[in-house]
Amino acid sequence: MKVQLLDLNAQYEPIMQDIRHEMDKVLSAHQYILGPAVKDFENQMQDYLNVKHAIGCANGTDALVLALKALKIEQGDEVITTPFSFFATASCIHRVGATPVFADIKEDTFNIDPDQIEKAITKKTKAIIVVHLFGQAAEMDKIMAIAKKHSLYVVEDNAQGIGCKYDNQYAGTIGDIGTLSFFPSKNLGCMGDGGMCLTQSDDLGAKLKQLRTHGESPKYFHQWVGLNSRLDTLQAAILSVKLRHLQSWSVARRKNAKLYYELLKDVKEIQLPYIHPKAETIYNQFTVITDRRDELMKELQSKEIGCAIYYPLPLHLQECFAYLGYKKGDCPISERIANKVLSIPIYSELPAEQIRFVADTIIKFYNK
Ligand SMILES: *Cc1c(COP(=O)(O)O)cnc(C)c1O
Repeated sequence: MKVQLLDLNAQYEPIMQDIRHEMDKVLSAHQYILGPAVKDFENQMQDYLNVKHAIGCANGTDALVLALKALKIEQGDEVITTPFSFFATASCIHRVGATPVFADIKEDTFNIDPDQIEKAITKKTKAIIVVHLFGQAAEMDKIMAIAKKHSLYVVEDNAQGIGCKYDNQYAGTIGDIGTLSFFPSKNLGCMGDGGMCLTQSDDLGAKLKQLRTHGESPKYFHQWVGLNSRLDTLQAAILSVKLRHLQSWSVARRKNAKLYYELLKDVKEIQLPYIHPKAETIYNQFTVITDRRDELMKELQSKEIGCAIYYPLPLHLQECFAYLGYKKGDCPISERIANKVLSIPIYSELPAEQIRFVADTIIKFYNK
């Protein structure tokens, strides 16, 4: 039995006709840059996430750069973030000329540790970038309190957590600016690249809109140097169709997770994802921790079960950030976890018998 880590065909097959229909509308209107489908999708996202402004852009990485530019983060500023995330979380800080400062994670949730944030604050600290890793919100109550106490901005990198909540509030709408990615493997993915900024602030909303079109307003007059970073009109049309299903997809992922918890509860050698009581996760990944990670990965691969390591090398140890002067041992939890994590299939359409097969394979591996 072959089990894919993600099967986009299963996701698209039932909705392809609706998608083609919406794409045809774009093709007949010929309004390709910020066409009506973009505004429609932005409005739908504002309703879905209960947020005042949703601003589409070209990808999740640009969304982070736009967020930092809107907050005037620049050379000489420090931005605290997690070393255990996708590269873009830290590269955006470098790209605006500021300095990334890494605060280690908590071992149970994989999310940034509020106590470590507080320890990393200096006179130069301007902002915190929080990541809701694998679809689980970080501890936003504690992080917002720290930000308030030290007058710092909070950017929520919610590329992996669309629709997840903390304390019943949608992640990405709690800090000053939240960002989303519509990369195909995210829970709401498009057929290419796409991204979005979210904010409750009218000022920041207007500024983000201006920044995504070269910082111009009115046309050909530039108050700031912005980006050329718009959400493509075709992608917006596709996303509008998919958004109708997002809620049910999240429910299906949680149901799949529940089955893993039942089937794997007696396997002492692996630790299943810990979900914070205040967090409602959407399981972009189902990531387990095990000392024999590389062996288990080989075993799963030999049975044609898709699995992946997110992420094998923490950001503070990446070659491109050597100039920051971090060394091994500076973020010990991230470093240890990077050697132990393994993400296994969890996508919405994953059949129960495949989940059973994955669980069986894991159980047999540890009983050998
Ligand atoms: C995917 C991802 C991004 C970047 O999104 P792109 O759309 O690929 O640019 C940023 N941060 C995190 C945590 C991600 O997982």
